[in-house]
Amino acid sequence: MKVTLRKISKIPLDFEVQSNEITFKGYLEYHAGKLILLKAKLQGSLDIECSLCAEEFKLPVDDEVEFFISDGVYENNDGIELDVVESFNSFVDLEEILDSEIELIKSDYHSCGNCKSSTI
Ligand SMILES: [Zn+2]
Repeated sequence: MKVTLRKISKIPLDFEVQSNEITFKGYLEYHAGKLILLKAKLQGSLDIECSLCAEEFKLPVDDEVEFFISDGVYENNDGIELDVVESFNSFVDLEEILDSEIELIKSDYHSCGNCKSSTI
């Protein structure tokens, strides 16, 4: 699902995309200047390799995602640190964002139930 950034207004635009067992659901809303706010929830489960025993297990996912998308180069003039992703093709690709969020979760440290119980 691709959304043209210029078409996003102050009225929240709902979206829902899916990847395997993860649902990415939320909205896009015009913020100010070139910034669009993305607020969404990641829910479902992921097949993940345990960082300790390399066994695959299902990791339940229930995450809130919130950041800004800048239509073009983001210039931080007001000194407020914002979480901003720049878009250079004037649209946002929600599947792509979902994929990168999943990669982010996968790159974290995760241990399966067996390893967790044996380390405590
Ligand atoms: Zn393990």
